[in-house]
Amino acid sequence: MIPYARQDISEADIAAVVDVLRSPLLTQGPQVPAFEAAVKARVGASHAFAYNSATSALHAACMALGLAPGQRLWTTPITFVASANCARYCGAAVDFVDIDPHTCNIDPVALEARLREAADHGTLPAVVVAVDFGGQPADYDALAALRARYGFRLIEDASHALGARWNGRPVGAGAWADCTVFSFHPVKILTTGEGGMVCTEDAALAARLDRLRSHGIVRDRAQMLHAAGEGDWYYEQQELGWNYRMTELQAALGSSQLARLDDFLARRREIAARYDIALRELPLQLPQRDPRADSAWHLYPVQVADAATRSRVFAALREAGIWVQVHYIPVNHQPYYRDLGHRPEDTPHALAYYRRAISLPMYPALRDEEQDFVVATLRGLLA
Ligand SMILES: *Cc1c(COP(=O)(O)O)cnc(C)c1O
Repeated sequence: MIPYARQDISEADIAAVVDVLRSPLLTQGPQVPAFEAAVKARVGASHAFAYNSATSALHAACMALGLAPGQRLWTTPITFVASANCARYCGAAVDFVDIDPHTCNIDPVALEARLREAADHGTLPAVVVAVDFGGQPADYDALAALRARYGFRLIEDASHALGARWNGRPVGAGAWADCTVFSFHPVKILTTGEGGMVCTEDAALAARLDRLRSHGIVRDRAQMLHAAGEGDWYYEQQELGWNYRMTELQAALGSSQLARLDDFLARRREIAARYDIALRELPLQLPQRDPRADSAWHLYPVQVADAATRSRVFAALREAGIWVQVHYIPVNHQPYYRDLGHRPEDTPHALAYYRRAISLPMYPALRDEEQDFVVATLRGLLA
């Protein structure tokens, strides 16, 4: 079976985790800060906080930005549900802005039209979550300009995009978003089993992101409110947080994986280039590149002619042992969001993309022969 995505675990990765198992601390030790420091150095961020998933990091990012009941968060429908659910955890409303059919990222033109209308009605979003779909950054030139003009806070859901760049600047360096969230789920660019990281340049946001993952507790005396007369046992819960901490085992795996990031990215780029050439004569729409973006190539989604072809080709590929997937079912197609009044027809480009999309296998350990088999099988099905 050839999956659409899979982790790549080396002997060094295994040894790093085993070392932690023999060490005194399985949580709250030196590995998490070391992994955070390595990510900061890699992406050029001032602050980075490890979480036990990107979902929990998105939740904390929304809380840290002050998202509250009565406010709104806007995002794209072509994403994993977590990009929208983070608003619901805070009691905020969600709305969906259609995609640019070329990049499948949130469409800044559609966003601007919606913002202009919302400004007239007093219904502007407090937060916009942009998703770097498939690893290709969204249009941050346009999004940063809209952020400045309409005053929303921008979260970059870079779950697919560790190692990607926009205009040559690394995703996570804080050049355009208030905070950037990475995922380390096993299908993503690198893995910690489950895990996530949030980066920011904003010191006030950083302080909250640090404590929200651990019950809202502060351990730095300089930040305490009632430390006078208290001893070394003393800690302070200053707001309501959660236990969203990453373990030492996960962080050690993350640091070991991060050392291989350039190899992972190079291999993903190579696989994308091989697909581009091998598939170019077929009746498919291949992933389109924005010349300002350098993608991390988490996904290689193709679009067939129509929904009937998609159903047929998807089933036949799986029959052949090629475990393709669809990224994504529009979030406004989900029953939970339909119950809140959303419809996939509200975002027609996203719906049209969804009906024709298939994600082909894309991961560093995919062998050339396996990729050739995927291409040959697809060619036979589309002949
Ligand atoms: C995977 C993913 C998430 C959630 O990541 P987890 O680490 O599994 O919580 C959020 N957003 C997007 C776009 C994703 O692909």
